[in-house]
Amino acid sequence: SKGAALVAAVAQRLTSQRRKVDEALSLFTLNEEKLQLVKSRMREGLEAGLKSKGCTIKMLPSFVYHTPDGTERGKYLALDLGGTNFRAMLVRFKRQKTRLYHKIYTIPLEIMQGTGEELFDHLAQCVCDFLDYMGLKNVRLPAGFTFSFPCQQSDIDTGTLVSWTKGFKATDCEGEDVVSMLREAIKRRNEFDLDIVALVNDTVGTMMSCAYEDPKCEVGMIAGTGSNLCYMEELRNIEKLEQSNKWGGLGNDRCLEDIITLYDVEVDIHSVNPGKQRFEKLTSGMYLGEIVRQVLLDLTRRGLLFKGHVTETLKTPGIFETKYLSQIESDHLALLQVRSILQQLGLHGTCDDSIIVKEVCGAVSRRAAQMCGAGMAAVVDKIREDRGLERLSITVGVDGALYKLHPHFSQVLKETVGVMAPQCDVTFMPSEEGSGKGAALIAAVVRQKHQM
Ligand code: BGC
Ligand code: MG
Repeated sequence: SKGAALVAAVAQRLTSQRRKVDEALSLFTLNEEKLQLVKSRMREGLEAGLKSKGCTIKMLPSFVYHTPDGTERGKYLALDLGGTNFRAMLVRFKRQKTRLYHKIYTIPLEIMQGTGEELFDHLAQCVCDFLDYMGLKNVRLPAGFTFSFPCQQSDIDTGTLVSWTKGFKATDCEGEDVVSMLREAIKRRNEFDLDIVALVNDTVGTMMSCAYEDPKCEVGMIAGTGSNLCYMEELRNIEKLEQSNKWGGLGNDRCLEDIITLYDVEVDIHSVNPGKQRFEKLTSGMYLGEIVRQVLLDLTRRGLLFKGHVTETLKTPGIFETKYLSQIESDHLALLQVRSILQQLGLHGTCDDSIIVKEVCGAVSRRAAQMCGAGMAAVVDKIREDRGLERLSITVGVDGALYKLHPHFSQVLKETVGVMAPQCDVTFMPSEEGSGKGAALIAAVVRQKHQM
């Protein structure tokens, strides 16, 4: 009976440990009531952003007044600076048929965080390589520039960078016109020329490229390294023309304090832009892995995971890339495989540890998808109300690795929008190369307008 007492004691310890883990995970649970709050805060943020500057949700106008109509023709260059890569693309529009050629260039960390001149010189060098490769160096092509950072545009082809996001911090760019910076770098290089006709956010490019196929597409969303959304707003609702998208900033005024956990606070403090992009930091690929790591660190410190061994690996920022979350959460993966992914990352644990890690990943990514769903519900309901409709049927163009590659994100997003905006029928349309192709389309629309 001494043995029986020991077994009972062990069992009790296990249940109390399990309870503590559950408590930590429950911090990430959002019930319908909380999601309603997120939805209404997003709505208020949008309305405030439309009325004035300096709000947490920057409504930055894209100066795109129409979605494409299918008459776009010709050869265009699209340059796409996103979160991690730079993509150069040649797009040909020919009677509803598009042809794409592209090359992907990585942006080394020292360039992301060096000087602005170095960054733009690097972009010019990539464009030069691409034109060489395509044999187009002597043609002055019209180009669309997708620049996936907040820009205050004053026209379709000018915009100043409001602030860097997603780990970029090249100097001397904030407050500058990024199109001029690119033009100057091209001039410095003096090897080719371009006619940059449009500056485009990736959400807008995604919306436009999906609208090319489905005219009901009037919303664009990115769930990738960063998180953002755009939609076609009624011009009459824009009081200050300076404004039209930027949901990642919701919460910068602390309106999400009841949702933000101590883990999120850690992630924010250690980011390159503390206090900013609070919504993005709950919802995008660049941060989800870091939130997971913070939870694992805490559980380990409290002796609830990895036998309480806090390793150097666990203390290393950035070890949990989104692709690992996607892998770990895959339904097809046996626990042993989860365990081996963790081992590859240098985290050695038992199968029970693997179960907990998988649960942490699930809680963090589920919350992200729900937050995006609630935010999107606010947008589609606003569009519906603005049009005085009982029901709205609308298409959302989407892109980003979190949406496309994570095993559950897209499903949870869709379910949440369904519950939170019951009067809207939302169709999600994954975009293919949308942000770049969309920039080329916008360039085509702008060009044809000028020629008319
Ligand atoms: C940027 C947005 C962009 C989004 C998705 C955010 O960090 O501020 O401009 O649309 O990431 O790439
Ligand atoms: Mg992108």
